[in-house]
Amino acid sequence: MSDSEARPTNFIRQIIDADLASGKHTSVHTRFPPEPNGYLHIGHAKSICLNFGIAQDYQGQCNLRFDDTNPEKEDIEYVESIKNDVNWLGFEWSGEICYSSNYFDKLYGFAIELINKGLAYVDELSPEQMREYRGNLTEPGKNSPYRDRSVEENLQQFEKMKNGEIEEGKMCLRAKIDMASPFMVMRDPVIYRVRFANHHQTGDKWCIYPMYDFTHCISDALEGITHSICTLEFMDNRRLYDWVLDNITIDCKPHQYEFSRLNLEYTVMSKRKLNQLVTDKLVSGWDDPRMPTISGLRRRGFTSASIREFCKRIGVTKQENTIEMGSLESCIRDDLNENAPRAMAVLDPVKLVIENFTGDAETLTVSNHPNKPEMGTREVPFTREVWIEREDFREEANKKYKRLVLGKEVRLRGAYVIKAERIEKDAEGNITTIFCTYDNETLGQNPTDGRKVKGVIHWVSAEAGIPAEIRLYDRLFTVPNPAAEDDFVSVINPESLTVMQGFVEPSLKTAKAEKAFQFERMGYFCADNKDSSAENLVFNRTVGLRDTWAKIGD
Ligand code: ATP
Ligand code: MG
Repeated sequence: MSDSEARPTNFIRQIIDADLASGKHTSVHTRFPPEPNGYLHIGHAKSICLNFGIAQDYQGQCNLRFDDTNPEKEDIEYVESIKNDVNWLGFEWSGEICYSSNYFDKLYGFAIELINKGLAYVDELSPEQMREYRGNLTEPGKNSPYRDRSVEENLQQFEKMKNGEIEEGKMCLRAKIDMASPFMVMRDPVIYRVRFANHHQTGDKWCIYPMYDFTHCISDALEGITHSICTLEFMDNRRLYDWVLDNITIDCKPHQYEFSRLNLEYTVMSKRKLNQLVTDKLVSGWDDPRMPTISGLRRRGFTSASIREFCKRIGVTKQENTIEMGSLESCIRDDLNENAPRAMAVLDPVKLVIENFTGDAETLTVSNHPNKPEMGTREVPFTREVWIEREDFREEANKKYKRLVLGKEVRLRGAYVIKAERIEKDAEGNITTIFCTYDNETLGQNPTDGRKVKGVIHWVSAEAGIPAEIRLYDRLFTVPNPAAEDDFVSVINPESLTVMQGFVEPSLKTAKAEKAFQFERMGYFCADNKDSSAENLVFNRTVGLRDTWAKIGD
C-alpha cells in the first residue's frame, strides 16, 4: 500500500465524527462479536483493531460479545482462547464479557412479540421444501401453506418447540416479511430452530436456538451499541437487522456499517477450513506457527505491536482486496530489526578447527545491536573448534562469494580473521572438517599488513554451543488463493516446515518464549512457547531478513 492511500482516518471514523458533531450520539459504543467456534485469526485482528481502536480513540466503549447461538459447533476452549487473544493484542473490553446466550430469555420474549403482531409464524415445511419455496435470484419465492396460521396456533406450536415436543427439522419459527423480496434474506427468514444440544453457557435449558440475524441486532440494541461494524457479506442482512429492530419494542436503534474483510495470500481464513486443518492433523494445532491465527502468529514470534501496525497499514475500506503475505511480514521485520537483540546460531553446522589456536578458550564481548549501544553487550566464548554454516564454505568460488573459500580468508563475526587451509571429507565426499589458521592480531581490527578481508560469517563455539532444534516455516499453501481450489488441502505446501538440528550460542540457553532474536545473517527467531526448555531448546523462525518471496515471484 502506498503512502498516499494510507489515510489517518477511514470512512467509519468519518461517520462517527459526523454523528458526534450532529449530536446523533454523544459517545461511541462498539462491540467485537466472535462466534466461539474456532480460534481468532488475522482477519479478526482487523475487526478487533477497528472496533477496540475506535473505542480507545473516542474515549468510548467496546464490548466483547460471544455470538453463541450454535451450540453444536461451539466450545468453551474457543471462548478462553478468544479472551486471551484479544488481551494479548493489547485490548480490554469494557465491563463484563457479554454472551448472546445471556439474552435467550429476552430474545424469546421478542419472538413472542412478533408472533402476537402477526409478524412471525411456525412453519412445518421440510428443509428441502423450504429451499424449493424460497425461489432464487431471478424467481420470487412462494408462501408456505403454514404462513397464515392464527396467532394462537403459532403461540401453541412455538411453545411446543420450546418444550422439546418437536423433533429437529420438523418446525421452525420464521419472520413473516416478503417471499418476493429481491433480497433473499427478507424471504421469511428462519429466526428460531429446534436443536437438542447442550450449550456451553446455558446447558440443557434450551432446545430452541435463535438464528444469527435475529440475535445479532437485538444483542446490539440491548447493549446500547451505537455503531455495529461488520464485514461486507452482511450488507443485505442490514435490511433484516433494521426490520427486526423496527418491529419489536426496544428503545435503542444501532446502525450497521460494513467494511471489506481481510484476505491474505497463501493462506485460508475461513474457520471451517482452519478447523479442518486442525482436526485432520495437517497442522499441529490452532497455534501451529504456520496458521494465520493470532495464537499461531504469536507462537511464530509476531509481536502484538506488529499485528496492530499491519492493521493500521491495510486500512479500512469497502473495497474487496487481497493483501500480500509480504506486507504482514514487513511489519514484523520492521519491528524486530529495531528491537530484537542479535545472537549467533548455526542451523546446518560443519566443524571448523583453528589449528594454531592452542591456548584456553577466550571470552569475547559482542554488542547486542549494531546501532543501539543501549541494548548492551554479551559474552561469547571463542574456542579452537567452532561450528559454521555448511553453505558458508566452498572449496572454490568466484569473487562474488564473500564467505570462506579454501586458501582464502574471512572474518568470524565479532572474532578473528581465519584462513581455510585444508578439509577432510567422509566416504560420500561430504566435508566433515575444515582446518584453518587464525590471525591473532585481528580481533576488532583489520590485518596490520593491509590485507583486505571482506567477508564476515557467523559461528558458534563447538565446545560451548548448545544443540537446538530450529524450525523453518514457509507458506502453508503453494498457491495465492487456496480457497479457490476444489480441494484446498491438495495445495498444502509439503515444505512448509523444515526442521534443522543446529547449535546456538550459550547466552540463548535462557531465551524466553516468544522473545525474538535476530540470528545473525539467518533471520528472526524466538523460542517456541510450547516445546522449548533450557534442556531442549526449540526455536521458530519468525521471518527471514529479507523478503525472499518478492524476488522469486518476479
Ligand atoms: P467464519 O465465517 O470463518 O466463521 P466469521 O466472520 O463468521 O468467520 P466471526 O467469529 O463471526 O467469524 O467473526 C467475528 C467478527 O470478526 C465479525 O464481526 C466478522 O465480521 C469479523 N471478521 C471475521 N473475519 C474477518 C476478516 N477476514 N476480516 C475482517 N473482519 C473479519
Ligand atoms: Mg460469523
